[in-house]
Amino acid sequence: MKLATFSDASGTRLGVVQADRIVDLSRVAPDLPTEMTTLLAAGPDALAAARRASDGAASTPLADVRLEAPIARPPKIMAVGLNYADHVAEAGLETPKLPLIFNKQPTSVVGPSDPFHLPRVSTALDYEGELGVVIGRRCRHVPKDRAREVIAGYVVLNDVTVRDWQLRTPTWTIGKSFDTHCPMGPWLTTADEIDDPHSLGIETWVNGELRQSSNTKHLIFDVFTLVEHLSTAFTLEPGDVIATGTPGGVGIAMKPPKLLVAGDVVKIAIERLGEIENRVIDEPADTAVIV
Ligand code: ZN
Repeated sequence: MKLATFSDASGTRLGVVQADRIVDLSRVAPDLPTEMTTLLAAGPDALAAARRASDGAASTPLADVRLEAPIARPPKIMAVGLNYADHVAEAGLETPKLPLIFNKQPTSVVGPSDPFHLPRVSTALDYEGELGVVIGRRCRHVPKDRAREVIAGYVVLNDVTVRDWQLRTPTWTIGKSFDTHCPMGPWLTTADEIDDPHSLGIETWVNGELRQSSNTKHLIFDVFTLVEHLSTAFTLEPGDVIATGTPGGVGIAMKPPKLLVAGDVVKIAIERLGEIENRVIDEPADTAVIV
């Protein structure tokens, strides 16, 4: 099942994508939650109800709605650095012996076709195409061989990075967490549709030029190992997202570097999960706010 968060003139809610159409879950299953994290937290029965209700139901063209980030505000976004060998090599670094974990702030999320910002304070803007794992159940100390049970599904994600802010201190969080720097989507493909998350082609284009082309089979620490590792330390919750790392081909590693500028369009596609396409814009003048 492809679970989407979408909006139209009637507001924002959940839908089930079927080819180029979408079923409005709030219409066909009005008792179900209308927000993704709440739906996931309601458990497998709620997902089964969504599946039943959407089967053969009336739908509208996808083109008539706006797809939003599947999870608007994940409780947490955990990310993994240096998790593909070719990216480790292009960074000129050693292969980590343990997963290198950092966070992206939940406020960095935007939708699959939303613009993202070239910040006022930097010109070192870069893309990182990544497989995103969405947690579906509250859990801790999950052994690797049971990790499948806690994964709700998968998304395409851009771990947008401000390179100078990432690398000028030992911890990466701030350079990974600027507002708009976690485009995600186009929808959540539920885990039952993805027998093996370690056999998915992943590609990134900038303005139509192929920059990254790899496969999740090359992950150094696989999805299930990451769930075990992270849940050893803390509780994972429905809606949490794990950005599993990017393959080789990031802009900073090109010779000469090809960093993003306003007007660039970054498209990331993952086999069976769909694609996201986001344009770089200058950070607008109105982002300063005190409420
Ligand atoms: Zn990354």
